[in-house]
Amino acid sequence: MAINIAIDGPAGAGKSTIAKGLAKRLGFVYVDTGAMYRTLALYFVENGIALDDEAAIEAALPAVSVRIAYQDGTQHIFLNDRDVSGEIRREEIGNAASATSGYPEVRKKLLALQRDLAAESDCIMDGRDIGSFVLPDAQVKIYLTASVVTRAKRRFDELAEKGESPKLSEIEADIAKRDEQDMNRAVSPLVQAEDAVYLDTSAMDIPEVMAEIERIARDKGVL
Ligand code: C5P
Repeated sequence: MAINIAIDGPAGAGKSTIAKGLAKRLGFVYVDTGAMYRTLALYFVENGIALDDEAAIEAALPAVSVRIAYQDGTQHIFLNDRDVSGEIRREEIGNAASATSGYPEVRKKLLALQRDLAAESDCIMDGRDIGSFVLPDAQVKIYLTASVVTRAKRRFDELAEKGESPKLSEIEADIAKRDEQDMNRAVSPLVQAEDAVYLDTSAMDIPEVMAEIERIARDKGVL
């Protein structure tokens, strides 16, 4: 059976950086499920589909295909065969993903893809409902979080590094709004799975968090 490590948590907790780094170190595949919701959201935005129109979103789904491929160990994601790995990182698309990820048909569309990837290979999968719903039997489950202020500051630094000039107060408001949406939706809300280890990274750096998760996995005899 493949080894599955599930990492869930709110926006900006550092999940993808940690999961990607650890996957590389352990020789596991990294599966970024947020990218899948972002890819569907990109389609809705590009095609002018109102994000609050659940019926229109559902009607659009059969025309959308999401495919994952790995090139040199990096996940690339394809929207109807177009590589959209870069485009989906836009802030607008992240917000659109959050606005549409609560629709049951949207979640259903991505579930099989996520479970198939996890069954195929040892992987670290990050998202919101991986430990609680997608992979209930994952051998290691981590709930990664940090204060809103810390997460906003990290996001601010990331954008500033890319040459953008974001407003810290706006990022904070965005993060708080996303938390609210992701934690309070009816279907698969962001919750800590009962058997997940809670890790607050506000005062930890990336190598420390990676080492801690590796230690947890070793303690469980998984590695
Ligand atoms: O993690 P990321 O910011 O890329 O995710 C974008 C959005 O996709 C999240 O705000 C959340 O609404 C949704 N998502 C989800 N379930 C997952 C992963 C992401 O609902 N497993």
